This record gives sequence, structure tokens and C-alpha cells, in this order.
Amino acid sequence: MDVFPRRVRTADRSSEPDVAPIPEKRSAVRTLQASSTASTEADPTPSSPGPSPQPYPLCTGEREPEVRLIILSPHPDDAALSCGGEMLKARPGHVLVVNVFTRTAAWRFPDAAQHIEQIQAIRHKEESLMTRLTGARIHALDLPEALLRGHSQDEAFTAEAGPAESGIADSVMAAVSNLARQHAQARWRLPLGVGNHIDHRIVRDSALTGLRNAGVDERRVSFYEDLPYAALLSEVPDFSRFFSMRTLEENGCPINKFRKSELLRLYWSQLSWNQIVGVRDYAGRVGRVITAERCWHFAKA
Ligand SMILES: [Zn+2]
Repeated sequence: MDVFPRRVRTADRSSEPDVAPIPEKRSAVRTLQASSTASTEADPTPSSPGPSPQPYPLCTGEREPEVRLIILSPHPDDAALSCGGEMLKARPGHVLVVNVFTRTAAWRFPDAAQHIEQIQAIRHKEESLMTRLTGARIHALDLPEALLRGHSQDEAFTAEAGPAESGIADSVMAAVSNLARQHAQARWRLPLGVGNHIDHRIVRDSALTGLRNAGVDERRVSFYEDLPYAALLSEVPDFSRFFSMRTLEENGCPINKFRKSELLRLYWSQLSWNQIVGVRDYAGRVGRVITAERCWHFAKA
């Protein structure tokens, strides 16, 4: 996410509840078909049997060299918003978050003027703390987000790529191809493009081309549901026909919604408490009897 709905300004933070980490019921977790990574990794809740893969809340362990999952994050908060629950379950160093548009201007306090350098410094701090909580690595592409390319907050959700985007897609494509060659065994997670933000669409489409150019098997590629936009949809949305040319199939990853909410609180310059609650409630809707994050992959052609 980078731009925020105007309703954020009216968010009531006085009703913010206590979100101390409470263990999820293990029996319920088993009822959802987990993604391949989630199903093989222990749930790091305090009551989980066996060794915990990482201490909580601060991760200080040795990082393992092999990257297993690469998440493309258009803006510095998108990976945590959409995949934060899974990131908290991963072992330190196994997840690499690629932040694409790290030159940002988004700030949810429009009445409190900030210099762009201050905003970017705050966002950098938020992201650094995210890595402490999750153990993920980060890689920045240092590209300018839509607001810095002349798009308005509202128009960014309908705009088509134009001259302002010249060179951006090529940069993303090349970076993705290079990373794919460096991390040949990694799986990839791309934004699906829910919400239609131009930056998310550019990342998705450029990354797909870059991965194809690098010869990455499409079975290694999946798409996350862009939050909080997906949470604004009613009920449990079906994205199986999101693309006109290919059908998608769903995977669910059980998550601890309380831990994810704590992770999202790091992004105080971007997210209101109401948005965090919306993301948490969405995890309950898509998980049905538990809380989950969903991702989508190509069905066999
Ligand atoms: Zn974004």
C-alpha cells in the first residue's frame, strides 16, 4: 500500500484493544490446507510443542543463507500487510522482501507536514523493525512511487502506465531476473493487484516477465491478496478468475492474527488501527474456522 483512503483521517484510536499475543488453537490450525511452506514449519506460538523456529518478539538468531521465499513488495508495507503472518512463521533469513518503490511520499497524517526526507527515514525505520520481528531480509530497488511520478492518490488506482513509468518496468524486470538467478531455489510471491494500484500492477506484470526471462518455473510463482484492499471486499472474494487468460487456484496459510496485528502496528505512518482490524477480520473470513492468509497460483493449463 502507499496511498490511504480518506477515511483513515477519522480513525478512532481510542478504542484500540490490547493485542498481546495469544496462542491460536492448534486443532483449528490443522483444519485448513496450508501452503507448502506453512505446512512444514512449526507455529511459533508460545504453547507450540517442540522447538520454536525463532524467538519472539525480537529475532536475534543466526541467519541462514538460503532464501526460500522472495516476496515482491511494491511499497515497504505491502509484504507485511499481505504475507506478514507467514513471514512471522518462517525461519530467520528464509524470506527475502524486495521493496520496489522505496522512494515514497505517502504519510497518513496530511495535516502534519513532513519533509519527504523525514517520511522516507520513518518508513526505513519501520521496515528495519519489521526485519527484527520477522527475521526477513530486505532488498530495496529505490524506485519512485506513483505519488512521486505525478499521480494523485485517487488517480493511482485507475491510471495506466505512461511516460512517467518509462524505464520503471525495465528496472523491475531486470532486478527480478537477477534475483531469480541468485536464488534459483526460491519460490516467488507477487502482488495479485487487488485494488488496481498502478504500482502493484507494474510490479506484478514486470516481475512475471522478469521471472519468465530467467526461466523460473511458474509453479514457483504465486500471488498474494493485496491488503488492505482485499479486506474492503465483501464476504470471501473469489480471485480464481482474476486474470482473463489463466485460472488461479487458492492456497491458505494459517496465521496468528494477534502477532500479525502487532507486526502491522509498526507501520504507524501508514496504517490506522481500523485498517489493521480490517485486515485481521479478513483473515478470519478467508480462514473460515481459523485465521489465514491466502495466495493464488496458476492452475495447470
Ligand atoms: Zn502498496
